[in-house]
Amino acid sequence: MIRAVLLDVDNTLLDFHKCAQESMKRGFADWGIPFTDETYPVYQTINNPLWRQIEDGIITLEDLKRIRWVKVFEALGVDADGVEFETLFRSYLKEASQPVEGAYEVLEYLYPKYQLYSATNGPYLQQLHRLEIAGMSKYMSGNFISEDIGYPKPTKEYFAVCLEELQKQMSDISKEEILMVGDSLTADIKGGVEFGIRTCWYNHNKEEHKTDIEADYVVDHLVDLKEIL
Ligand SMILES: [Mg+2]
Repeated sequence: MIRAVLLDVDNTLLDFHKCAQESMKRGFADWGIPFTDETYPVYQTINNPLWRQIEDGIITLEDLKRIRWVKVFEALGVDADGVEFETLFRSYLKEASQPVEGAYEVLEYLYPKYQLYSATNGPYLQQLHRLEIAGMSKYMSGNFISEDIGYPKPTKEYFAVCLEELQKQMSDISKEEILMVGDSLTADIKGGVEFGIRTCWYNHNKEEHKTDIEADYVVDHLVDLKEIL
């Protein structure tokens, strides 16, 4: 039934928390800023709502790049240039590719059975490069990266471009034969449901399901995909 599987990247295939923390620590060390226990939580309280705003079309990725570290430094009481740090952070982030537990096992399992595509909100070259150094590019028949697509998940436009591309490779593919797998209810699942493809929520934090967004499948561990697919 399913022929194409769209895989979110951050916190689905790659452990974004590990990648971000590692990149931050390197940047802070370069600039002589102390990295403390509160640094990452503060970053998250600022970064996460900004990504929600991108999903809602309120700000762009470019806006996020300009404001993110300015706000984080402000909140941390650090006197440093946030715009410049963003560039440094990104240069390290580009090299960070820590896999989520079970990611390779699942890719090896899915690869012979389905056409696999990465489906991620983020900068084009950065995401491609991270997949490459993680050794995951070889599994992908294509990469749907928001900066290249021109729209982010969960917009209909994003998924419409994905479908168009899929139809170039599998001309008779229908929406029911496409599965979106991802950890974000607001980007991956909402987007997939509204576009009419199938969805699998990778609920790695075992969050309580407190929205009206209903995925076709839910897995707590990535390897549980093997039970479904
Ligand atoms: Mg994600």
